[in-house]
Parts: sequence; structure tokens; C-alpha cells
Amino acid sequence: MTEKVAGTEEGRSYFSRELLEWYRAQRRDLPWRRSRDPYRIWVSEIMLQQTRVDTVIPYYERFMTRFPTLQALAEAPEAEVLKCWEGLGYYSRARNLQAGARQVMERHGGQVPDDVEAVGALKGIGPYTKGAVMSIAFDRPEPAVDGNVMRVLSRYFCLEADIAKPRTRVGIEQLARQLIPEGAAGDFNQGLMELGALICTPKSPGCLICPVMAHCEGRLAGRERELPIKTKAKKPRPELRLAALIEGRDALAGKILVRQRPDTGLLAGMWELPHVLVPDGYAAVEASGKMPLGKAQVKQAGQMEQPGQAGEAERVERVEQVEQVGRVGRVGQVGQVGQSAQAGYFEQAQQTVSAGHMKQAGQLEQMELLVRSIAEETHLLVRPREQFMVAEHLFSHLKWEVRVILTDFGFVLRPHEEAQAAPASNERKVAETSAFYELSAQTTARARSTDAATTGVAAGEADEPLPPGYRWIGPEDMRELAFPNVFLRILRDYWMDYEL
Ligand code: SF4
Repeated sequence: MTEKVAGTEEGRSYFSRELLEWYRAQRRDLPWRRSRDPYRIWVSEIMLQQTRVDTVIPYYERFMTRFPTLQALAEAPEAEVLKCWEGLGYYSRARNLQAGARQVMERHGGQVPDDVEAVGALKGIGPYTKGAVMSIAFDRPEPAVDGNVMRVLSRYFCLEADIAKPRTRVGIEQLARQLIPEGAAGDFNQGLMELGALICTPKSPGCLICPVMAHCEGRLAGRERELPIKTKAKKPRPELRLAALIEGRDALAGKILVRQRPDTGLLAGMWELPHVLVPDGYAAVEASGKMPLGKAQVKQAGQMEQPGQAGEAERVERVEQVEQVGRVGRVGQVGQVGQSAQAGYFEQAQQTVSAGHMKQAGQLEQMELLVRSIAEETHLLVRPREQFMVAEHLFSHLKWEVRVILTDFGFVLRPHEEAQAAPASNERKVAETSAFYELSAQTTARARSTDAATTGVAAGEADEPLPPGYRWIGPEDMRELAFPNVFLRILRDYWMDYEL
């Protein structure tokens, strides 16, 4: 790490003095700055990770109304916490925050301790949050170094070390610690963050109005725009996912089928549309041009959605010209009641497929894949109708392209039916199987007609049991269930007429 003029004693004290004075005169009035309650500061710092201030404010205020104390957060059901966080992204932040609050209840009697080590040991609190909470709430001289702060200090001291490397962060933390003026750690750390957010911005630093411009080595060297040095992160891995927007009929008309994710892993515990990952082989086929459904058919509908400064962003693309595939009529229109009507529905479906209404082989393959995968993974037999939209979602390590297919609900396969519905040979190519759904449906319908005579429950009726974790919802249920951003956007598009 090279230190030039700014690195002298005079240059350092100049930086700290001017920054502090500027912050105290110019600081923004933000809701979390009106309190030194460590709980409130903790919540705000977690929300602000990867997310812009303007986006955070309404979430913070709503969260504080719902969970005004650490105890209220600790005792709340996790589903409520996730619901309150819905739309902010990075949902593990919410889960960890609540886990940390529960640790404070258990270990520290409900009070965030004035103890650097103890705070650093709480779930979800890393070096940055620890420094922010300790300095702002307790005025402890702890550095709080995030990307903004690394950028400002790299420029002021003209540092050429790669800020993507952990050892550079450690070095900058040591430097920041030395700069903290006595008795003003909270304001100094917030001043650094504020300078990075408002003036020393990534692309166009406002050097001419910067309080530390006189001794800024980066500016004096004309390198303010090329610093900091940061090697590019690995590109997120692309994944193509097919999601089924399964519409109910009869008593379930107006509802759609959703499922809850497992308690652990990515987006744990959140709700989503049933969807399947398209194997690499399929993606490769599509890339080779044999599966023509692609970007050319979609139109970008908006800018990157918040949160989106760094890691996560979301873009939803609406299909401009929806290609009608397998236009065989709504389930409700054909299979109204009873087994005979249901059988008629299956027959009509097969005739329509064999009549060649599915024009695009790529779409047919995808729909068959969707039907097959959902049947295998979730025991639901559904019938795809048309593509509804394409949505993209960026995680830090993954990029999902979610193709949403409007489908009708067939029924829940029973174990013996799955065996019957399985393809004769795994070697068979999907395109040669006709429609998996139709084959499966016909086989199953025959067995079902006998079953229904004894049980009185016809396939697809409202009281047919669903697999665990699945439920039918209407727009009103969206108030209660937490969905990841990508599915939230899809459902808002689907239920356009409702305030979700
Ligand atoms: S003078 Fe320019 S480059 Fe230096 S800290 Fe200020 S805004 Fe950043």
C-alpha cells in the first residue's frame, strides 16, 4: 500500500477534521440517524447492505412499526419477518437478523451489549456491521469499512491495491482505524459513508465540492476515476428455469398454485411458482438454435430494479408476442365435472396435439420438459398452454432466466400412476414422445374413472390433496406470504388489477 502526501500526519488529521466538519454540517436526515438505539442502527445497517438509501427508508419504517423492539423481532414468526422484508432481496439478511436478535435475548438479556467481541459474535454481523453498530451506538473507535469507504480511502491516499482482495480490506480497516478522531467515531464513520454515497461516487466523483479535495492524492494525480482498482468478480452462472403458473378451475377459479421452498438453502422458506431447472443439455440445444424461443421474442420492460447497487438486481421481461402453443381450451371449459367429461378433455387434448397445433419444436420440448419434471419432482400433472413472460433474476453467483408458462391444473399423481405415466424409455427423445402430459393423462384418467366412482372425488377437484408445501392462493393471500422478488414481479404482472 503506497502512502503519499495524504499519508502524512498532517494529511491524515486534515482528512479526519474536514470530513467530520462537513458531515456534521451536511448530513442527511435519515430515520435511523434520529436514534442511537443499537437495535435500530443494526436493522438499518443490515438493510443498507447492497441496497440504496431511498429504497431502504420505507422498508425500515415499516419494519420498525411492525418490530419496534429487539424483543418483538426475536419473538415474531419468521414468515412475518420475511414478509416485511419482501422486495428488499437477500432474504438471508432478514433471517440472520432475527437469529441475531434471538441470540441477544438469550445471551444478553435483550440488550445489545457494549462489547465489540460479543456483538461481532452475533449471527449475520460481520466486521462492517460490527464497526457501524459499535461506533454509532456506543461511539467505540471501530472502523466500518464497506465498498464506499474503500473507494474514498483508495482515492484519497491513492492506493493501488485490489479492493476485491481480503488483505486489502484488512489494510484499509487498519488505516481507517487510525483516522477515527477521539470521541467522534460514529460521526466519522457515517461521514465516510456519506462522502462515498454523495460526492466520491463510483463513476463521477465530485472533486470540486469535496471537503478533502486539497490533499486528495488520487485527484492530484488525476486518477480519481480509475481508482479503486478492483478485479472483476466471476460472472454469475446462468440457469434457465421453467416455471408453471398453474391456474385453478371450478371452485379454485381465480387461484394459482404455489409452493414453499425448503427451510434451508437459497431463498429458504419463501413461496414461489413451481419451477424446474432446465438441464445444461437443453440449454445447449437452445443455444445451438434448435430451440428458437429466446431473447428475440421478449421485450425489456424496465430498468434494473432495486435493490441493485452491486449484487442483486432484477429485470423482468414481458413477452411481446406470446406464441400460442397447444391451444386446446381451458381445463375448466372441457372437464367440468365427472369422469366422462375429464376423459373427453384428455382425448381432445391429444387430438389437438397430434393435429400439429404446437408449431415451435423448441417450445414443445420445453413444455414437455416442464410437464415431465413437475410430474417427477412434485407429482403434479399439469398442461401447459402458453408462455406468459420471461423474467430474469440476478443473485451474486447465479443468474436465473425464468420462463413462465401458463398451465392448467390436471391432478396430483398417485404413486402407482407415476409408474404408469413414466416414459417407456429414458432414451426416448422428448420430441418423439408426443406430449408427455397427454400420454400420462390418458393412462391415468382410465384408472381415475374407477377410483372416482368409489371415492366420489374426481381428479382436479378442489378437495384433491396437494403435495406437502403446496397451496392454492388468490391475490389476497399475497399479503401474508413472502415471495422472492422475481416471483413477486411475475405475480404482480399476473394479478395486474390488484394492489399486491
Ligand atoms: S477529491 Fe475527488 S477523488 Fe478525492 S476524495 Fe474527494 S471526491 Fe473523492
